[in-house]
Amino acid sequence: MSDSAPSASQLAPKQVAVLGATGSIGQSTLDVLAHLGDRFTAHSLTGHTKLERLARLAQQVRPRFVVATSPELAAAQDWSDLPAGTELRVGRQALLESVTALDVDIVLAAIVGRAGLESTLAAIDAGKRVALANKETLVVAGPLVMERAAESGAELIPVDSEHSAIFQAMQAGRRAELERVVLTASGGPFRHHTPDQLRQVTVEEALRHPTWEMGKKITVDSATMMNKALEIIEARWLFDLSPDQIDVVIHPTSVIHSFVEFTDGSVMAQLSPPDMRLPIQYALTYPERLPSPAARFDWSKGGTFELEPADPDRFPALELGTQVARRGGTAGAVLNAANEAAVTRFLAGSLHFHQIVPACRSVLTHHTFDAHPTLEDLIRLDQWARQEIQTWK
Ligand code: NDP
Ligand code: MG
Repeated sequence: MSDSAPSASQLAPKQVAVLGATGSIGQSTLDVLAHLGDRFTAHSLTGHTKLERLARLAQQVRPRFVVATSPELAAAQDWSDLPAGTELRVGRQALLESVTALDVDIVLAAIVGRAGLESTLAAIDAGKRVALANKETLVVAGPLVMERAAESGAELIPVDSEHSAIFQAMQAGRRAELERVVLTASGGPFRHHTPDQLRQVTVEEALRHPTWEMGKKITVDSATMMNKALEIIEARWLFDLSPDQIDVVIHPTSVIHSFVEFTDGSVMAQLSPPDMRLPIQYALTYPERLPSPAARFDWSKGGTFELEPADPDRFPALELGTQVARRGGTAGAVLNAANEAAVTRFLAGSLHFHQIVPACRSVLTHHTFDAHPTLEDLIRLDQWARQEIQTWK
């Protein structure tokens, strides 16, 4: 027997629960896992409405479990082609079990919206490494999430490209030496629209993002800049920053993913062509860096890195993000729920694009603020804010 430590390839593969496997981040995660080979393996894949897709993914990936979170839809799906060795589980409890299973090492949290809250919290309470794409969990319950992660020892590694960039750039200095972070924003497809043009925006136009291909909700959030507002709040809790330490700059090509500025004035940034497979892989392999399937720069072609100030009048969502990051308490849960409901109404054709941000601001202003809510309070307010949006005209 050799007395040297086992090499990486001799270690048991890390087991990954992929929550939201049928979505955009889910797909990129499965690409990364395929590329990483036998160091990582999919323990479970979850899906909600796209169950045909989930069944197909199961054939390709052969996970231990597939989890269909909606029992009604699961009952209507033909699962006869599931590979031997893959077991079907159904419902919310099954989702939580796939997260807390003892043999799961990493939970890739990529369910969209508040629907991802319970499973992400369960992963945190179970002390897992959580590769966090589901930013809404931090927006809704940031202080609670960070407190519970500190108690359980869970590692929260960001997947959101800006936060991954900050996480990577922060490694260039000590935490006490960090002065500010600057989140980059593409500005979305309507960066040059006049107020009149914004009134005419169609669903189809809002779903055409200039630099990223993503799920519908985050694509609309990017067009309203609510995504950046949510990211300000995400950064505030994830990195324990004061809201005054968080700035936003417009960077239309999305190759600089964010900056960190240290006390001596040094600015560290992380750059790469826009491809979520890079931050996803880093969240899985951290602190290691491994060859990645993500697109690379061709430096021989040169390039420019255009940066513009973020005009608060043009992007009023940003002010909402900063306000909520300052207030904390119940504000994040209300903003998030109002936004989710407003986006749903916009996609269904019953709310105009330009009404999304004002509707959210109004619901936020009218809610009964509590600085120290429980999780139950937050969930109750989430329901309330959604109902308020239904009555918005
Ligand atoms: P998608 O809409 O593409 O995927 C969402 C996933 O969540 C799907 O698997 C969907 O299942 C599942 N889901 C939806 N509702 C429920 C529910 N009620 N219960 C259980 N599962 C549900 O979104 P994205 O992949 O784009 O985004 C996922 C998360 O990652 C979001 O929080 C987003 O903000 C974040 N993110 C995404 C980025 C991107 O590039 N896409 C970048 C940075 C962050 P099904 O499709 O089967 O219905
Ligand atoms: Mg982002």
